[in-house]
Amino acid sequence: MPSLLPTAIVGSLPKPSWLAEPEQLWSPWKLEGEALVEGKQDALRAVVQEQQRRGIDVLADGEQTRQHFVTTFIEHLSGVDFEHRETVRIRDRYDASVPTVVGDVRRDHPVFVEDAAFLRSLTDRPIKWALPGPLTMVDTLADRHYGSREKLAREFATILNQEARELEAAGVDVIQFDEPAFNVFHDEVRAWGVETLERAAEGLRAETVVHICYGYGIKANNDWKATLGAEWRQYEQSFPLLQQSSIDTVSLESQHSHVPVDLIELIRGKNVMLGAIDVASEQVETPEEVADVLRKALAFVDADKLIPSTNCGMAPLPRDVAQQKLSALAAGAGLLREQLEGAKA
Ligand SMILES: [Zn+2]
Repeated sequence: MPSLLPTAIVGSLPKPSWLAEPEQLWSPWKLEGEALVEGKQDALRAVVQEQQRRGIDVLADGEQTRQHFVTTFIEHLSGVDFEHRETVRIRDRYDASVPTVVGDVRRDHPVFVEDAAFLRSLTDRPIKWALPGPLTMVDTLADRHYGSREKLAREFATILNQEARELEAAGVDVIQFDEPAFNVFHDEVRAWGVETLERAAEGLRAETVVHICYGYGIKANNDWKATLGAEWRQYEQSFPLLQQSSIDTVSLESQHSHVPVDLIELIRGKNVMLGAIDVASEQVETPEEVADVLRKALAFVDADKLIPSTNCGMAPLPRDVAQQKLSALAAGAGLLREQLEGAKA
């Protein structure tokens, strides 16, 4: 593990075509029962090997064992009816088929802890596990019980904290909460979003990350981005609050994004996981392009707090493209690392 600019992906990677339909979100499994359990483990082995081979330093599970980064977690809780899915508008942007909350939510058993322990057994490198954040969870379901997003988010924060503590005990080094909804519901972020996020991360020794993005490279997101104008200033709302929070690291988009790079100044003091890989394009970045985005950020974040990363998950990309983007990320970080270390020597 390099002392400077350790690389890590945000989250998902494409699944092998024998496990799930490729280039699709919410893609159904192709296997069942024991074969599915074994298939998920083989997919985890493959993504670990691929990340290591291509020079990624902090390894993720690539979401190989879950169908979707939010709904899979929700479906494992009691109080949730996942068979009667409802179609609701999420992120104020597009309709999705989601589980329904029909009673008090509870976590009767661990959700991802076994998968994380298996990932831990596959590598000596640090590992990161992503969970959905409370605000994004309440925005990705139909609520027929609580009647209050805030109240439900507070319940989820408690549940997430239980899961996170057990992930940490299973050997997870970095715990990430995915909060794409932080870029949409600014009033809720201010009123209780950051507070419930901190509650989810409370008492953890593992490094904590919040990932905030403009979403996967799917049509609904690309159409939305087209309406945001020349400068995307959504982070300006949440960053000052996060700078004051107990969360260690903020993960944000940068490559090909219209986010003004100087907004990073608003989280001065935090670690910055910077998206140097565009997940909405199949064009593979050159190492120079990656290094360039990272270099520009150095005006606003100390080099020892910069973690080169992707803008978001890569699940919808063709597998070979995603794999080449892993190599580009590592090579670009390597270029800049050499320059920084050369300048010091
Ligand atoms: Zn994302």
